[in-house]
Amino acid sequence: MKQIAVIGSGTMGNGIAHVFAVNGFKVNLIDINAQALEKAVAKISSNLDRQVAKAQITEDQKVSALANINSTTDLKSGVANADLVVEAATENVNIKLQLFKDIDAAAQPSCILASNTSSISITKIASVTSRPDKVIGMHFMNPVPVMKLVEIINGYKTSKEVTDIIIELTKKIGKVPAMSNDYPGFVANRILMPMINEAIISLHEGVSTVSEIDTIMKLGMAHPMGPFQLADFIGLDVCLAILNVLYDGLGNTKYAPSPLLVNMVTAGDLGIKSGRGFYDYSHGTKELVVAPGF
Ligand code: NAD
Repeated sequence: MKQIAVIGSGTMGNGIAHVFAVNGFKVNLIDINAQALEKAVAKISSNLDRQVAKAQITEDQKVSALANINSTTDLKSGVANADLVVEAATENVNIKLQLFKDIDAAAQPSCILASNTSSISITKIASVTSRPDKVIGMHFMNPVPVMKLVEIINGYKTSKEVTDIIIELTKKIGKVPAMSNDYPGFVANRILMPMINEAIISLHEGVSTVSEIDTIMKLGMAHPMGPFQLADFIGLDVCLAILNVLYDGLGNTKYAPSPLLVNMVTAGDLGIKSGRGFYDYSHGTKELVVAPGF
């Protein structure tokens, strides 16, 4: 495998392109938005600078990593010579299904198609292609250059050969693969999101406060971030969408999203990205917010 196409150059796409490029792969970074591509290349460059400053890579490695990345808004030419496509476009089922139809038509028959989706069924994505045996989930974690895990998700028809290739490739780029079958939330979010939801339910029921719950989970369970800090980092809209996937897909009320979470998302308090969630970030710091009714 030499040539990788990464589709979507947002938070995850630029990190995925960075990791492949620094490990010597040629990358076509593709986005429908030319400005997003410009921002992504600038972000990759500054993240590489940080790695140079920390002596994790040399200046020469930075230069060759940047030279390995080509950016384009043209999906067809961007995937035409790829051995692997990693799709990291917006988490929207209709966008992904259309994208996979288009990628399938433009990519070489031998090309493996991976999705970085957090919650959409790999089997469903594979079903719109002519090669469901070559469709797989590669769920990178945020921030990609830092986080070691890649959750590998086998769709219903993913072949063992393709799984083995992707496991080896994941190791080659310095990451640790861990396997999941294709059921709602896979493993990471099936376990993480109910924990975050339970923290929100505990807050809503008045069991304790945001800062106390975060302190208990950080110091008591050795989590690097408490559940509210983590939810703000992920985005409350993303947390709500994944909980709805679990609730709809598994049909169990234990996954029902907290009404407080639903209200916060409806009101536009989405966490760090909107400047306010369980904490307030609007002054460049992380300050406590007293939620309505508390
Ligand atoms: P993002 O909003 O930061 O970036 C998405 C990018 O996709 C945008 O630049 C957008 O212009 C582009 N895009 C949309 N439609 C496109 C199309 N048809 N063709 C090409 N580009 C298109 O999103 P993100 O946070 O990087 O998430 C991307 C994927 O990664 C999602 O599936 C998400 O569930 C998954 N994911 C996100 C995180 C996270 O913490 N953000 C973690 C793991 C997985």
